[in-house]
Amino acid sequence: MTQDLRELVRAEFIEVFGTTPVGVWSAPGRVNLIGEHTDYNEGFVLPFAIDRRTFAAVGVRDDSRIRVASTFSDEVAEISITELSADAVSGWAAYPLGVAWALGELGFADLGAVPGVDIMIESDVPVGAGLSSSAAIESAVAVALAELWQLDIDRPALARVGRLAENEAVGAPTGIMDQMASLLGRDDAAVFIDCRSQEADAVDLGLAGAGLAILVIDTQVEHAHATGGYRDRRASCEAGAAALGVASLRDVEVADLVRAKELLDDVTFRRVRHVVTENQRVLDTVATLTAAGPLEIGELLDASHRSMRDDFEISVPELDLAVETAQANGALGARMTGGGFGGSAIALVPQGLVSQVQVAVDGAFAEHGFGQPVTFTVTPSAGARREV
Ligand code: ADP
Ligand code: MG
Repeated sequence: MTQDLRELVRAEFIEVFGTTPVGVWSAPGRVNLIGEHTDYNEGFVLPFAIDRRTFAAVGVRDDSRIRVASTFSDEVAEISITELSADAVSGWAAYPLGVAWALGELGFADLGAVPGVDIMIESDVPVGAGLSSSAAIESAVAVALAELWQLDIDRPALARVGRLAENEAVGAPTGIMDQMASLLGRDDAAVFIDCRSQEADAVDLGLAGAGLAILVIDTQVEHAHATGGYRDRRASCEAGAAALGVASLRDVEVADLVRAKELLDDVTFRRVRHVVTENQRVLDTVATLTAAGPLEIGELLDASHRSMRDDFEISVPELDLAVETAQANGALGARMTGGGFGGSAIALVPQGLVSQVQVAVDGAFAEHGFGQPVTFTVTPSAGARREV
């Protein structure tokens, strides 16, 4: 599959731009194993890069213009590099062009001096399914431009570039997790990120060795209340931190929850309890993976789901059904993943039981009158890289 897209994107580049690319770069989407709504509380997350990638074939021009095309769209966007700004482009082109702008904005590139480029994008990361096709396109373009423009920039800095593009050029208030996972992913490993220091470490997952697979169950439920719900939860976390006299919920320990219960109203307390216990579960997952391997992390995934369902209240019936059905059919653990109010669940499943879980989930959705979910396995994979 990867091989095909590598060749396909080259051919598409030649067809669209009429010249030959100098190289092909790629970056993966991601799944968050555990650590939900902890990023903006300066806590911990544990995502991994997946075996679905976005490819960028790039050619160098002899002027200072930049053009981007994608099989996702008929439109070819074009602008002079010196005219780039946070508001210069809209639509999908704001992701790749936002990256070029952000490289200048953060002082890594002199946009008055770099050569123009043509960029062709091709991808097998599903768009808008919560697998971060946005970070994949940003990271593929970021590694390509960093190399072609000969920039002195490391992977965490490239992640900040992608995030700035998404926050300012696109206008989506996201954290650093997706870009870090896409840029720092490794085969069969997760990326443990401390969102306060923004430091990241690879953590071996050992899934294949333990005979395990990660099954994604995309409920196909749109994140209908996501924007309002997200804002609401963020506000509760800030109110909780203020009432407890800390800079962020990162500074609250599980042992502090007894006092928090006395100080906070019931809803705020439960929001706080989710974040505080979720941070601890991420740390426990890393420790368990290291000491005992992936067969032992199932209960942490289950507990994470219960906390999001009962305390943070961001699940929906489809996600709960996906999780319960997976658990009842042999999954070692399961949880909703992503911001909530729809989207996907993940299940940790012995390889031999994957199709049984898929069939059971399909059947349960039909029985409840829910729309058919889309299920597929993902493999923890390498981060952004040059392909050709
Ligand atoms: P997610 O990251 O969960 O897939 P987002 O809404 O954050 O969803 O990002 C999806 C958007 O990113 C698309 O609507 C499009 O603008 C842009 N995008 C992602 N992949 C591509 C691609 N291959 N080509 C062009 N634009 C893309
Ligand atoms: Mg996204």
